[in-house]
Amino acid sequence: MKKKKVIDEIYIPDVGSQVETIDGKEYLITNDAMYTFFRRTKGEFSAFFLALKNEKRLLGCKCTKCGIVRVPPFLTHCPDCNFAPTEMIEVEQVGIMNSTPPITYFATSLFQHMAPYGRGRVIFRGADTAMSINLYTTTGILVPGIIKKGTEVKLIFRDKRIGEMIDVFCVPTAELTQEKINKNGLQESEIDWETPQEPSLPVASEEDSNQYRKALDEMKDLIEDMNRNESARKAIAGWKRDIQVKTRGGQFAIMIDDGDIRLTESVVSSPDFIMVCDDIHSLLDGLAYRGAITDSIINKKIWISKNMEFNTIFKLDRMARFLVRSKKV
Ligand SMILES: [Zn+2]
Repeated sequence: MKKKKVIDEIYIPDVGSQVETIDGKEYLITNDAMYTFFRRTKGEFSAFFLALKNEKRLLGCKCTKCGIVRVPPFLTHCPDCNFAPTEMIEVEQVGIMNSTPPITYFATSLFQHMAPYGRGRVIFRGADTAMSINLYTTTGILVPGIIKKGTEVKLIFRDKRIGEMIDVFCVPTAELTQEKINKNGLQESEIDWETPQEPSLPVASEEDSNQYRKALDEMKDLIEDMNRNESARKAIAGWKRDIQVKTRGGQFAIMIDDGDIRLTESVVSSPDFIMVCDDIHSLLDGLAYRGAITDSIINKKIWISKNMEFNTIFKLDRMARFLVRSKKV
């Protein structure tokens, strides 16, 4: 009897290719599987992942002959020593960046919940090779310059671990107390994420204040426009955020509430996050679709207090885009 497959036969395309002609040009189409569910064993890696998951320990393998320590322990025998066996050893949870990590702001759907994140290679104390790992900061949005080649970082364990590489990540040791740096198996919930380092703003001149008033009036009109616009409202459906915005000329709040967006000249007692932009025009231009707010963040013209709120910024950019597009039609 034929065993029933998890995905029905009719949904699985034949392996092969075909040619389609569009506007007189030939295009090759191949059938590929993009995504499916599967079970797989971690095999010889099991000890490494179990140590991360259950014991919050970082393991490497040490060659019994030449003594090189590889982390993660991806070899059971050393190719440099005529395949002498390696043995598992524990290494320290503080290391040095081997390279300057690129930062992913716009991740694919698979990694969107983790973005923005840095991805770089760390040589942990006691190891000779670098391990690839995700990187974060507790100081606010992750931007270039916070973590570089040579930056000392600490291994942090997720509170919920399933035995995958994403069970762990690193933050700069400069952001932690000595006690936390020394602690093995430090978890994400033991770290202070709630006191980001807000950039200071210079005192506003009279000219700054005048510019601020003008830009604020323009922004109020724009936000009212967005609030009345059905397509713009769709970008913030089901979303609720109180954002305190601080600029050189003054501060105001932008409140997002399931399709509604409002600007009030007030100080919110407990905003979901804080946005600091020295020049209010950086934000105004983004909302008016003259450049993206996301770009201003990456270029450090706008700072936000919570890394994960990049998501909200993304929505504001979409509102700006939808508003402009719907006006064109
Ligand atoms: Zn060896």
